[in-house]
Amino acid sequence: MADKFDVIVVGAGPAGTSCAYTAAKAGLNVLLIERGEYPGSKNVMGGILYRKQMEEIIPEFWKEAPLERPVVEQRFWFLDKESMVTTSYKGLEWGKEPFNNFTVLRAKFDRWFAGKAVEQGALLINETVVTECIVEDNRVVGVRTDRPDGDVYADVVVLADGVNSLLGKSLGFHKEWKPDEVALTVMEVLNLPKKTINERFNVADDQGVSVEIFGDSTQGLLGTAFLYTNKDSLNIGVGTTLSGMIKKKLKPYHLLEYVKEHPMIRPYIEGGETSEYLAHLIPEGGYKSVPRLVGNGVMIVGDAAQFVNAIHREGSNMAMSSGKMAAEAIVRAKELDDFTERTLDSYRKELYNSFIGKDLKKYKDVTHTFEEHPQYFTDYIPMMNKAANSFFTVDGSPKKEKQSRIIKSITEGKGKIAVAKDLYRAWKVMK
Ligand code: FAD
Repeated sequence: MADKFDVIVVGAGPAGTSCAYTAAKAGLNVLLIERGEYPGSKNVMGGILYRKQMEEIIPEFWKEAPLERPVVEQRFWFLDKESMVTTSYKGLEWGKEPFNNFTVLRAKFDRWFAGKAVEQGALLINETVVTECIVEDNRVVGVRTDRPDGDVYADVVVLADGVNSLLGKSLGFHKEWKPDEVALTVMEVLNLPKKTINERFNVADDQGVSVEIFGDSTQGLLGTAFLYTNKDSLNIGVGTTLSGMIKKKLKPYHLLEYVKEHPMIRPYIEGGETSEYLAHLIPEGGYKSVPRLVGNGVMIVGDAAQFVNAIHREGSNMAMSSGKMAAEAIVRAKELDDFTERTLDSYRKELYNSFIGKDLKKYKDVTHTFEEHPQYFTDYIPMMNKAANSFFTVDGSPKKEKQSRIIKSITEGKGKIAVAKDLYRAWKVMK
């Protein structure tokens, strides 16, 4: 192994591998270090991989990547105890090239993706933990690993070590994340025959469905549950902010059991055999929690930098794009032979001008607002279910009377002004 690399990337998730792939493709000497037995062995995701950002790295990747199903339908379920209001979009065009997004199992996908970085010339070392960055003269010059003689040097170290970025924290780039800056998510992979999945979700073999579930699925806490179709299995999971779980004294596995037993969900998963049980944090602090991104000889990408858009369930795509942008900034720095913060900062500027910076900014107050005002989950979703029940029940009352009864029930106990304020607040943080 060379003593000095152009780039050391810590972590072979989507962010790290994108960075390693892009830098190696541009001819740089890249070392990719992963603590797991293989890339993906420790990684968790609900399972939606977005085509656009992945294609910008590997065109037409779907022809060879280990994908599950192209998603042709996005459903939203708003649950009460024994009812749900649903809405969805199904588009058969999403089932054809160039597709929209896919379900994936990370253990397979990450391993394949890291293999592509290796094909480009990156050196991948598994089962190796980076314990700290080596800093000399206010500049990161390499990393210390848990291997004997485990110090390795590089012009730039890219921290792609995920949400618990201990390395970013030890460099002082951010503090320990607070419980309202992360969501705790638990999920299971349930094996079911392909035919059963197709019948229950009304799809063909090569079509997938993603379901986002709000309301009773999180027992009034800010968060969502999800149900995604793989080829021969389903991914079911639920996540809420850690602060919410602490406040309500809820255990994550209790939440998941509750979701699995919900009468609206149980029929879809019945008979499924658990093949994996996983828990992981998701960074959900948003724009205001993004840490310092660049230092002398060092950059942070992906979850380690809080790049997740919880409203649109996007994380892996932000990880990939940020990794790619970081690599491109390193290639520019290499041309100048200058790896100072000033030069590498082009990454930060490009990132804030991209969809990542713009989307994080757009939703900068969402998490905190909805956590401070739980009525959107505790009151309005049950209200919506009751209104639908009342509207669709044929009980002999004239429709006009029924309409005014429904409108009255919405403001009942709260008052019109409070409801108007809630609506305005929601519009303001989402607009
Ligand atoms: P990670 O994928 O966490 O990768 C970090 C890598 O670094 C890991 O391989 C880890 O082993 C390695 N590592 C960490 N520390 C060290 C160290 N010290 N030394 C060496 N290696 C180290 N996003 C979506 O786009 N769609 C979804 O449907 C979706 N659903 C989700 C559901 C759940 C339950 C969760 C938890 C997340 C979900 N996300 C989703 C978010 C998405 O998974 C992340 O945004 C994405 O994985 C971030 O990629 P990353 O490379 O930054 O970090």
